[in-house]
Amino acid sequence: MRRMCVALSALLLFWIAGNAQSSRPSKDATNATTNSVHGFPQTVRVRLWYLRPPHELKLRADAGQTRYRKCASCADIALTTLAMRAVASKIQIDSDKADASELRVSGSFQITALNGPPLREDFPIEIRASDGHLLVTASMPMEEYIAGVLAGETGNFKSDEALKAMAVAARTYAMHFGSRHAVDGFDFCDSTHCQNLRLTDVDARLRRIAGSTAGEVLWYDGEPAATYYHAHCGGTTEDGHYILGNDEQRAPYLKQHADTYCVRSGGNQWRSEVSKRDLQRALSAEGVNVPGQLRSVAVLHRTSSGRVEFLTVTGSQSITVPALTFRSAIGRNIGWDRLKSNWYEVRVEGDHVAFHGRGSGHGVGMCQTGAEVMGEEGRSYREILSFYYPGTKLGVGAQGTQWQQLTSEDVELFTTRPDRDRALMPLATRLMHESEESTGLIYSGGTKLKVYPTVAAFRDATGEPGWVAASTRGHTIRLQPADLLRDAGTLESTLRHELLHILVESHAKAGTPRWYREGLVLYLAQPNGGTQRSGSFDSVAALERALRAPVSEQELREAYAEAQSRVAKLAQQHGKVALVDWLQNGLPAQ
Ligand SMILES: [Zn+2]
Ligand SMILES: [Zn+2]
Repeated sequence: MRRMCVALSALLLFWIAGNAQSSRPSKDATNATTNSVHGFPQTVRVRLWYLRPPHELKLRADAGQTRYRKCASCADIALTTLAMRAVASKIQIDSDKADASELRVSGSFQITALNGPPLREDFPIEIRASDGHLLVTASMPMEEYIAGVLAGETGNFKSDEALKAMAVAARTYAMHFGSRHAVDGFDFCDSTHCQNLRLTDVDARLRRIAGSTAGEVLWYDGEPAATYYHAHCGGTTEDGHYILGNDEQRAPYLKQHADTYCVRSGGNQWRSEVSKRDLQRALSAEGVNVPGQLRSVAVLHRTSSGRVEFLTVTGSQSITVPALTFRSAIGRNIGWDRLKSNWYEVRVEGDHVAFHGRGSGHGVGMCQTGAEVMGEEGRSYREILSFYYPGTKLGVGAQGTQWQQLTSEDVELFTTRPDRDRALMPLATRLMHESEESTGLIYSGGTKLKVYPTVAAFRDATGEPGWVAASTRGHTIRLQPADLLRDAGTLESTLRHELLHILVESHAKAGTPRWYREGLVLYLAQPNGGTQRSGSFDSVAALERALRAPVSEQELREAYAEAQSRVAKLAQQHGKVALVDWLQNGLPAQ
């Protein structure tokens, strides 16, 4: 589980990162702009023309107000038509002598690259140039992205229910693999690397299908499932283990099973051949060097579904080649139509190697042909999904978790593992009493503690990045799995930090700046720390902005350090009692 590792290393930073969005929602601008419902991204950033970025683009206003600007804070310019090309890392605009390093376009417009069809858009795009190419990133509604994936990945499904099943699978897949392009500054590319996106073919029906399942995701164990899909399994799906490798072996919903649906539609058998010479070249292009001249190819081992796992390729000597490598060598260098799947017999006929196979695609997860047959036979998309991903749960928000509520005098605990998490209640009570004692403030409300079973469930429910260990809204503290925090040695300090926040927020005079509230919590949690650091922010306004909407974990860390250091200095000069008084009655003018 890749994500878990990222979060674990970052958990050590929790006390600094642990409160990106705390404080009362009514006062908190961050909460108002959170881009999610139940933690789902509603807007996704998609890189268009990812594999072949264009050198030139043409834009034409479609209707209403179409505008562009040359930087985030630049003035809007009305757009009717605009032609541009990339020159090294600059954008050269036909009607404009000054080059731009970026363009932001909004409104309704058509965008045309090379000789492709015009793409109609009414969501904002950003254009940059790099190495003589234009890099176009669109910020589009999640459901428009899903409609585009349906256009790109399903061909022309007749059954609405099969399309709905695909919409859920595509959305879940996107959520599961959503971090692949995080370093590039966008969420998904438009190629099959992520999912094939064909925005030019989106129509009203695909939008309706995406919208009718909006936000629905397949969950397994608190995580969006790895919902692989393929064109035709040939009658038996493949165990995900063969393409996922070891780190995703916990995917019992991707087990091999018989599929009696797709075979009814026929058309699953195929024959093809490649010349020995082309095959040898294709293999060598992928780094598989057959000694001498390629003479024969034979199946060495099959998986339990019957698909080829290893082949023996013989020249002057024999070598063993994994079937996945063999297929991608032929696909990339000769054509993907030659070896449609790994389920085949192989024979050598003269100069040629002949294949007789069945199915199309890797065979893991949902068989699109079978889904279409199920849909046409009157099965619902829920039935289709539970047939191809058995054991997953369909829902909006983290599903598959059974919340249980435990109550003590002043703490309500929501957990999926009451036996393990029960001890958090007396711990929270003790820490709150200590906080009250150290500040002289009394907290009169109750405290709700919600402990998520996995980092992903926490992240999806709170909208926080995985490196945030906990967050507080009102008097509810939402925590990552307590075991993880305990293992990282940060459980008690995380909880103390969040409880101090509840205490501080419940007494803060309206309008108390954020740096003061955050800094006071950090100072109270660690009265001897944080005096050495200062000077990363040149104004209070910059510090406030960084605390409200940090652009990175690093910036948030610096902002916390700065807030803590400011409050610690005030404490040295005026004492803690004065700090608590200012919290309730307002900061002195200077
Ligand atoms: Zn991608
Ligand atoms: Zn099938």
